Amino acid sequence: MYIMVINCGSSSLKFQLISFPEETVIAKGLIERIGQEDGAQFTLTAGGENFTKQPVDAPDHTKAVTAALEALTAGDCAVLKSKDEINAFGHRVVHGGEKFTHSVIIDDEVLECIEECSPLAPLHNPANLAGIYACQTALSDVPNVADFDTAFHQTIPKHAFYYAIPYEYYEKDHIRRYGFHSTSHKFVTEAFAEKNGKKVDEVSVVTCHIGNGSSLTAVENGKSVDTTMGFTPLAGVVMGTRCGDIDPAIVFYLMENENMTAKDVDVLLNKESGLLGFSGISSDMRDILEASENGNERAEISLKICAYSIAKYIGTYVALLPKTDAIIFTAGIGENSHEIRKMICGYLKGLGLSLDAEKNMTRGKACCVSDDNSSVPIWIIPTNEELAIARETRNELSE
Ligand code: AMP
Repeated sequence: MYIMVINCGSSSLKFQLISFPEETVIAKGLIERIGQEDGAQFTLTAGGENFTKQPVDAPDHTKAVTAALEALTAGDCAVLKSKDEINAFGHRVVHGGEKFTHSVIIDDEVLECIEECSPLAPLHNPANLAGIYACQTALSDVPNVADFDTAFHQTIPKHAFYYAIPYEYYEKDHIRRYGFHSTSHKFVTEAFAEKNGKKVDEVSVVTCHIGNGSSLTAVENGKSVDTTMGFTPLAGVVMGTRCGDIDPAIVFYLMENENMTAKDVDVLLNKESGLLGFSGISSDMRDILEASENGNERAEISLKICAYSIAKYIGTYVALLPKTDAIIFTAGIGENSHEIRKMICGYLKGLGLSLDAEKNMTRGKACCVSDDNSSVPIWIIPTNEELAIARETRNELSE
């Protein structure tokens, strides 16, 4: 069985073709600059061949999906005899609001609900919908499944998802904590349970997805009970370009004193803050680590601000969970940076965490990196959001 995983941005289409039951990636590609004046570009790896940034006729998402399917069925990178070999599409959908607690097969009612959630994710949901419509147009008989970034967090209890603002704004504007990175938090929780021979509802963990975007989740007996991102992905820990938690009064102070509009502050806090904003160097952790090693003081402080913000939430979640079977690090920084893991754990001495210096050098492999003295085991589990979406898609179809 072949499942094509689709992740659409406003001007991009990322895809992977995954075969089951082997769970092998047959092809992966990216079409960027969709609809832009100077033309779209296609990067593809398939069948042992690859090409990088080739021009492609993709003025819209429908044409981009057509181009992807053509490349998979004809030419040097062909891996399928016909596009009819594809059994299903699995779509990443950013916002499912309060409506979706798990993945669903997409029908007209689901499409309407995704549309209704668009005001909550105005940049993402319309792009995700464009990808779904494009796949429906390209292969009308093939089922489409939606996997929501928000779904795993729908088990968060009321006292953790409401904000203490007048209740009418929850009723009217649906303002509450939603949380994101569902696919990743769920995937690493399940992988941890499997590796430890347990059922997922037997494990309680703190999952730390630390990448360009970052969030932590407290998982009790396999269910999300709290997470750091909130109404939007801006909340929580310090990220590549997002500020994470700040005093909300900073927003109106900036608007009044710097003469900024709401849009200006939005851009400042989402795109120009975090590691990039404070260091003034880059949003990429590797650049900050290098600059810090070379003696750049602001880079060094950026690392500390970021690690400290993560440590605070780990401490909080371990204190709130009745038991914690593991702290799990995942995503680009969480999986790869021994330095950041060391800094984070260094802030948590009172918790009795203890990394094994040698094991902490591990990269790209699921394993425990703490020593026997650690009060809570510390794990690295590489995330694989595409595989997770493909599995969810297969599961929905087999139900
Ligand atoms: P992601 O959003 O999960 O792709 O993660 C991207 C982030 O991971 C970027 O900030 C990268 O600099 C960071 N990253 C990737 N590899 C490493 C590494 N070996 N050491 C430190 N950071 C890394």
